[in-house]
Amino acid sequence: MSASTTFSTLPLSPQTLANLTRLGYAEMTAIQAAALPPALLGKDLIAQAKTGSGKTAAFALTLLANLNPRRFAVQSLVLCPTRELADQVTAEVRRLARAEDNIKVVTLCGGVPLRGQLASLEHGAHIVVGTPGRVLDHLDRGSLPLDALNTLVLDEADRMLDMGFHDDIAKVAGRCPPQRQTLLFSATYPEGIAQLAARFLREPVTVKVEAQH
Ligand code: ADP
Ligand code: MG
Repeated sequence: MSASTTFSTLPLSPQTLANLTRLGYAEMTAIQAAALPPALLGKDLIAQAKTGSGKTAAFALTLLANLNPRRFAVQSLVLCPTRELADQVTAEVRRLARAEDNIKVVTLCGGVPLRGQLASLEHGAHIVVGTPGRVLDHLDRGSLPLDALNTLVLDEADRMLDMGFHDDIAKVAGRCPPQRQTLLFSATYPEGIAQLAARFLREPVTVKVEAQH
């Protein structure tokens, strides 16, 4: 294992490193090794790598590093194209969070009754993962305060654009505090992604891992 691909080269807490070892994450994947150093410095990021390359942990470790567990307010928002993907991201964030921090992750997707989501938000959340339309519904209702938000993630951004979420993403991003960190993850990099990035990211670092034949 080369030194540059071990998680221990990153500015992560000993508890987080121990948790990664427990999960069997011995080495960083290529996109994690490229994305995590700038992301953990607080830079905005455009990260492109194929499906299955470990993009979720790259942004999950960043938003968890930015999180203050003692501050009971929504500090990270992850937008995903589908409910299935939002559930997967929620599960991975929960795995990577330190158990002792009691971090609350709430999933907000369309096609699910609002009532349970409203109750979960009322009860308090540190991290919200959801689909753009339903997240926007909650912003319009005033049920999702974002004044404490420090990290916005656009996951599978190419798929979100394919599904027609451009305007919803723009509205949600426009309601996030301007001094946040924004991370954009995508398997492909069509023109629409470049435009989205130009509008909502600040001096982003771009990292790209080419497919290994
Ligand atoms: P992507 O979002 O790029 O499609 P995922 O984040 O879903 O990929 O990761 C794919 C799989 O790889 C998941 O099962 C995840 O738990 C696993 N994984 C991620 N990072 C590592 C790592 N560093 N070591 C081992 N497994 C990992
Ligand atoms: Mg993914």
